[in-house]
Amino acid sequence: MKYDLHIHLPQAISDDVLTAYEIAIRNSGLKVGGFVIHYTEKYGKRNFKNLVDVIETLGVKSIAGVEIYYPSTTVPSDAEYTLVHFRDIIIDHDAILKISKLNNPIIAHPLSYNSKFTSEAMRILKKYGITVEYNSAHISPEMHNFYRTLKAYGVEISFGSDAHTPYEICAGFEQAKEFITPVDELGVMKKIL
Ligand SMILES: [Zn+2]
Ligand SMILES: [Zn+2]
Repeated sequence: MKYDLHIHLPQAISDDVLTAYEIAIRNSGLKVGGFVIHYTEKYGKRNFKNLVDVIETLGVKSIAGVEIYYPSTTVPSDAEYTLVHFRDIIIDHDAILKISKLNNPIIAHPLSYNSKFTSEAMRILKKYGITVEYNSAHISPEMHNFYRTLKAYGVEISFGSDAHTPYEICAGFEQAKEFITPVDELGVMKKIL
């Protein structure tokens, strides 16, 4: 079943933009969508509410989440999941512990933006219930080895296209299949759906 848990929607959406999303979603074959906005305290709850209202009109099984920039861990309480964007960091035990307290945390585009994991952090992801994203916009042959290692540790791997336009929704899903966890087996979805 085709899914994508990293679809950005603009902060403000006109009817024309909404129609473009509806058409693209139908064409993409998307069955379960996770829609997010970049969340900072500046944007506030109002835009998140707007996101929830919009996705309810899109006609697919959808959840609403936010993408935060670590170390900020401010999240609206009604966000159903949290994508964590790390940058310039070595992700260690403490960082994993901190994000494990978020609602349904998923590490977005791992190893991007100058981030890496300590080997201890890699080993405790499963224990702390952290999902790691296969991000089709940040993929390389080395990343495949990384995802194989995660799989060996029993870590759940969600699919995310990081679409910032409607046409990128589900991009690269077929190539990701070998690595990702089916949507109905993802713990984060079991808690939500
Ligand atoms: Zn990001
Ligand atoms: Zn993103």
